[in-house]
Amino acid sequence: MARVVIAGAGYGGVVAGKRLEQAGQTFTMVNKHSYHQFITWLHEAAGGRHSADDYKIEITKIFRDPTCVVIKDVIIGLDRTASEIRGRRNSYPYDYAIIALGSAPEFFGIPGLAEYSLQLRSVETARQIHAHIESEFTAYKTDGDRSHLRVVIGGAGLTGIEFAGELIDWLPDLCSRNDIDPGLPEVQNLEAAPTILPVLPEHLRLKARSVLEKKGVRIRTGEKIVKVDRHTVHLESGEAIAAGTIVWTGGVKAHPLLSVAGFTCDRRGRAQVNDFLQSIDDERVFVVGDCAAFTAEGKPLPPTAQLAAQMGEMAGANVAAAIRDEPLQAFHPKIRGTLASLGRTAGVGVVVGVPTSGVLASMAKELTKVKYLIQLGGLRMISRNKRAFARE
Ligand SMILES: Cc1cc2nc3c(=O)[nH]c(=O)nc-3n(C[C@H](O)[C@H](O)[C@H](O)COP(=O)(O)OP(=O)(O)OC[C@H]3O[C@@H](n4cnc5c(N)ncnc54)[C@H](O)[C@@H]3O)c2cc1C
Repeated sequence: MARVVIAGAGYGGVVAGKRLEQAGQTFTMVNKHSYHQFITWLHEAAGGRHSADDYKIEITKIFRDPTCVVIKDVIIGLDRTASEIRGRRNSYPYDYAIIALGSAPEFFGIPGLAEYSLQLRSVETARQIHAHIESEFTAYKTDGDRSHLRVVIGGAGLTGIEFAGELIDWLPDLCSRNDIDPGLPEVQNLEAAPTILPVLPEHLRLKARSVLEKKGVRIRTGEKIVKVDRHTVHLESGEAIAAGTIVWTGGVKAHPLLSVAGFTCDRRGRAQVNDFLQSIDDERVFVVGDCAAFTAEGKPLPPTAQLAAQMGEMAGANVAAAIRDEPLQAFHPKIRGTLASLGRTAGVGVVVGVPTSGVLASMAKELTKVKYLIQLGGLRMISRNKRAFARE
């Protein structure tokens, strides 16, 4: 039997695994945690909608087939010459590999940003952000310094906007628990570009901005962060913002292991792939999700979970086909829409080409959770994760 190794159990990796499982193909999945994380919902965990543990699931619960071996290990190298993925604990030789290691934060060389900002990237960082904000509010009670109550979010793409919405809905409860005047906390969302949510059409961006501003978020576009110190964000204009919490959501690049391993990469470190999602350097290595540079209609695909899952599905099918010596299928991405939540009960976005906003968009966003869980394992997955998508 051919040896297939999937590196990474995020959206691309687990969907690739499901496809291989369906095809009856054995595989080894190596991931640094024993669990799969629902990264697209992490703003909810950071804002305390549910416990952070509700946003993860053991990988062994997704794959029931005994032909799948799940290994917890941190991958430290990809050796194309030896056809081996190297982990801290072991090496994993392959005939076919699917690389799905996701992304790393992009700090654009801004001094102090990596050191002094928090990043919303995993269940653990969501938990950390939540605990940090709580401790800042407690610190305010001790010394009365208003900057403890100021949260600065750098970046107004999907992650920044969804986090801002979730946070602003959490603050009344946080204030009431700490006996703090609810008029005192401040959430500033800074964006260097002239607009927020570039993935959405203009009228929906305006809608999102107006909803968040009415809730109390201060959205500042065209504001470039040039330096960050402990508890201070410096803007190009010369303004310095003192803030107890600084969260950076402003950019991602591909996992650095791809360029280190010598794959041909784009400027974001994503490995160039052909129509079948094979690396252009090695046809036995398929690359998916945030690690892959795939161009459609002349434009590189954005790093999103829906595209990572679609690529995972195609890579899984193509690996199974290659092993059977059958023709591979070309990948045709389908961008079915984008939805951004704006707190616990509002949202905005486009679903199959139709613009939507308000409660309807929020409900549509909730439905994407159900759809994804069904893709992972049907109804048993929904009952297992019912808390993560329970509405307030
Ligand atoms: C807060 C947030 C909100 C988002 N919201 C949306 C949204 O609403 N819609 C949308 O489409 N996209 C959204 N995205 C983007 C989306 O989450 C990513 O595009 C998607 O997760 C990419 O999938 P992937 O499989 O490439 O990587 P990931 O899902 O990141 O998976 C990578 C996997 O590799 C593992 N890994 C990494 N390094 C190693 C290593 N060295 N060794 C072993 N394992 C390793 C990780 O633990 C992880 O399991 C959001 C992202 C964030 C952070």
